[in-house]
Amino acid sequence: MRDPAKKIPLYLFTDSTVPDDLRGWVAEGVRDFSRYVPGLTLVRKETEFWNNDIGKVFEDGVRRSRTEDGKLLAKEMLTALDEGSKGWKGMGQGAGAAGAVIYITMKDLTVPKMTVCFGLTRVKARVSVNSMSRFANMKDMRSAALCVRRTVVHELGHMFGAPAPNRVIAAVEDFGKHCTDPDCVMCQTPNLDRLLEAAQREYRNDELFCSRCRRDIRRFLRDRGYR
Ligand SMILES: [Zn+2]
Ligand SMILES: [Zn+2]
Repeated sequence: MRDPAKKIPLYLFTDSTVPDDLRGWVAEGVRDFSRYVPGLTLVRKETEFWNNDIGKVFEDGVRRSRTEDGKLLAKEMLTALDEGSKGWKGMGQGAGAAGAVIYITMKDLTVPKMTVCFGLTRVKARVSVNSMSRFANMKDMRSAALCVRRTVVHELGHMFGAPAPNRVIAAVEDFGKHCTDPDCVMCQTPNLDRLLEAAQREYRNDELFCSRCRRDIRRFLRDRGYR
């Protein structure tokens, strides 16, 4: 049986570029995801990155990640998040720690060979960087909100074991392991139109993850002593 006292800390950092309505949609995405990970506890809800003691740990890394045209190098950023959070990601959790870090910005992310990057996650380190810049100018607020929520749920899914790294059925290696079920939030979307289509479909279905990915998440939690 799952120990209800055992919480999984999710450290959410939103930098000062992120507007308020968008912060709310990010929080909704975290709530959507916590249906699948009941112990998930938002530790740093909507903290200001630059005004936060823990955030300062990342400051150098963030500076290293900046490009001349004002973008962030996603991989550099993940290294900064990983190095900065090592000491407290599993704070108070012992060996079974599953704490995760997610960083939200309005700056564009760049990844070599990738044309559009909404988010990038280092699965084993459980750190993720997400850009909401492409959603800021969408005509319809509801569409923008759905895209933000879908992006957050997708990257959290990566950090919590979906699809499992060793899964071969209904999974593909394409900038990380992705699910091939078109109705699953872990399905890769190469551009904004496809992302919106997927988000609309998933939220209409009400079930965000396919049964295989749900099983992968349950196994991830069980392996760390959460169930
Ligand atoms: Zn992905
Ligand atoms: Zn799936």
